[in-house]
Amino acid sequence: MSSVCIIAEHQNGKLKKSTLNAITFGKDAAEKLGAELCVVVIGHEISGVADELKKSGASKIIIADDACLENYTAEQWAHVAAEAAQKYDAMLVGMASGTTGKDMMPRVAVKLNAGMGSDIIEFDGTTFKRGMWAGNALATIEITTPVKVVTIQTTAFAAAEPVEGESVLEQLDISLPQTKTRFVEMRETVSERPDPTEAGVVITGGRGVNGAENFKIIERLADIFGGAVGATRAAVDAGWVPNDLQIGQTGKMVAPDLYVAAGLSGSIQHQAGMKNSKVIVAINKDEEAPIFQIADFGIVADLFKVIPEMSDLLEKEMS
Ligand SMILES: Cc1cc2nc3c(=O)[nH]c(=O)nc-3n(C[C@H](O)[C@H](O)[C@H](O)COP(=O)(O)OP(=O)(O)OC[C@H]3O[C@@H](n4cnc5c(N)ncnc54)[C@H](O)[C@@H]3O)c2cc1C
Repeated sequence: MSSVCIIAEHQNGKLKKSTLNAITFGKDAAEKLGAELCVVVIGHEISGVADELKKSGASKIIIADDACLENYTAEQWAHVAAEAAQKYDAMLVGMASGTTGKDMMPRVAVKLNAGMGSDIIEFDGTTFKRGMWAGNALATIEITTPVKVVTIQTTAFAAAEPVEGESVLEQLDISLPQTKTRFVEMRETVSERPDPTEAGVVITGGRGVNGAENFKIIERLADIFGGAVGATRAAVDAGWVPNDLQIGQTGKMVAPDLYVAAGLSGSIQHQAGMKNSKVIVAINKDEEAPIFQIADFGIVADLFKVIPEMSDLLEKEMS
């Protein structure tokens, strides 16, 4: 039987939430194509990740485990992903459109001699839709090769819910090529807070926060929810917060249950990264700020008054 293969993303032995959104896309695509859904897990000592996926609704979890695959390099992972796709007769191969997916899937497409679509938000069984120009235009594309490769805009799909029954786990025999790149070192930003792409609540500050020190009030509110801190490019460019917190077209794409946008105008480039959030709360002094057009709740006020008040109230309620 032909398959739809979704490549799983994981970090420090834990599945990345975006993979569950990619699986929702994969399930729907597999149904439309009359194929089975396979999820491919690449790495080393990844049985925990495979276990997390057992109830995701995939027919098979394909495990490619080798000490050489412990650290991601696009060259090796793309080779293994392409081997899995060939072995399981994939018609469609996809991965979440994050840093890794964007880095590796074009290589997978080349190896499979496949056409590729990026940032896919819809598939009707024949054509794909993708957002362009920060989501201001939608392109419909057809990939005409027998095998199709995509990166998936995960904010457009809900996370796959656990199902009854378990997927079959299969080990993939892999042949690793001589590669021209080698992993040397990983320098990770270590934070107590979740990554904005993984968090259920994201509190984002913009230029209106007006300084690195002032971001403490954003952090305090985020910590009350056990949530993540986000920032606009203006705040990142000013050097107030690290750039891995940037939300938007050239930052991270998020769709949390709650997104609080404080002291930011809501430029199209920022909206591109957060407009799919379930509930958006905007705090801005300027009632004309574009962020209010997409906000579910708008507070026209000074963030330095509202956020500490909000935090005090929430702390009281939650204690
Ligand atoms: C190619 C390209 C890619 C880009 N990618 C991104 C991206 O990924 N992410 C991103 O964010 N931007 C991106 N940008 C930049 C984007 O165009 C905007 O410049 C940026 O989003 C503005 O950030 P801001 O809303 O924080 O600042 P501003 O637009 O200056 O807005 C600040 C807001 O804060 C309000 N404010 C000020 N003080 C207070 C206060 N005390 N209380 C309440 N409100 C207050 C003001 O009324 C104002 O609305 C990109 C731009 C380009 C050209």
